[in-house]
Amino acid sequence: MIWYPYTQMKHMKAPYKIVDAEGVYLHTDDGRKLIDSVSSWWSVIHGYKNPELNAAIISQVQKFSHVMLGGLTHEPVEKLSQKLREYLPGELDYCFFSDSGSVAVEVALKMSLQYFVNRGENRRTKILALENAYHGDTFKAMEAGDDEDYHFILKALENSTQNTIHIPTKIPELERAFENYHDELNCLIVEPLLQCAGGFRIYDLEFLKRARELCDEYGVLLIFDEVATGFGRTGNRFVADLVLPDILILGKALTGGYIGHAVTVANQKVFDGFYDDNSEHALMHGPTFMGNALACSVALKSIEIFERENYLAKIRNIERIAKREFANFDSEFVKEIRILGGCVCIECVNSEIIRGFQEFAFERGVFNRPFLKYIYTMPPYIISESELVKIFGVMKDYLRAI
Ligand SMILES: *Cc1c(COP(=O)(O)O)cnc(C)c1O
Repeated sequence: MIWYPYTQMKHMKAPYKIVDAEGVYLHTDDGRKLIDSVSSWWSVIHGYKNPELNAAIISQVQKFSHVMLGGLTHEPVEKLSQKLREYLPGELDYCFFSDSGSVAVEVALKMSLQYFVNRGENRRTKILALENAYHGDTFKAMEAGDDEDYHFILKALENSTQNTIHIPTKIPELERAFENYHDELNCLIVEPLLQCAGGFRIYDLEFLKRARELCDEYGVLLIFDEVATGFGRTGNRFVADLVLPDILILGKALTGGYIGHAVTVANQKVFDGFYDDNSEHALMHGPTFMGNALACSVALKSIEIFERENYLAKIRNIERIAKREFANFDSEFVKEIRILGGCVCIECVNSEIIRGFQEFAFERGVFNRPFLKYIYTMPPYIISESELVKIFGVMKDYLRAI
């Protein structure tokens, strides 16, 4: 029996069963073809069954699928870390791999705390984070996040959230938090520019620039959780290209959505905080499947395609088409339409409105999974104009029909 995610099992309707997938299409067991308008939780940026990605995995699987990274190493992980070193901005040079975004967030938060503990600064126990943040489902990630669904469970753990301060994405509040807590903070962690699971909220780049200044002024580490925004989703390759963090977290699209894998990338300064004759200053972490050879092979190929096929131009095109298609659209059920890069979100006036959307879209050949009061799309970047127009048409038709 499968226990499905984010779902009251008692009320769950049967999920659609997928038997094949190619390009942007999912094929169901009853012979339907559905456009995957959410790229399997924002990860499948090249679409399904990409011949080059398939070949990369097949070639590696014939050598070996996995060896542990404790005491062993291999070409795919060496090449990927070298590639990321060249590809990422600044001195983001040290790759710590893990099997999921949540774990990569845990690693970043542990790194940040220990960075100061290693220096004897034991008071820096607090993390600064944003309201409406989402950083994953493990415990420290839940604390850093600000998801209504987690408040309920975290409440059961007394004092579990006392080490996290949440602020809105407003510069005065940011400055006040630094004034009040700077000597207790080890990091500021943000989803830069676009908060995804918390409702696709776009905020100002100036906030991040000010955050960088304040982190420098007070010696606090800046962490960008780009698990969702990385690899082009905001229209930038990485938001880290615009403002440089000390630690960058990538996941989801890292492997083109083929295999769960993530990486926590530290800059020279953070790495130096662990590099020491004292073995207690080592980072004590090591997920079993970190640096998995299949994941690294497919990630390398994914980045190669992203660069070679000029994906940033494809993403700009998605944004342009979205703006055009929604330019004259208005509905009493819509509070706001937000478009940034390869992300389009319709915030509805309440959660009732989205209720029938999944079935409506399914009947018209589109797979979507709205949540809270958001109807959104994050399509694979390879989507064609007509397929995009179809997704947007389904969204508009639904809001006209209810
Ligand atoms: C999805 C997500 C995570 C968690 O990644 P998993 O691979 O699901 O553990 C963390 N941070 C952000 C910003 C995400 O969108």
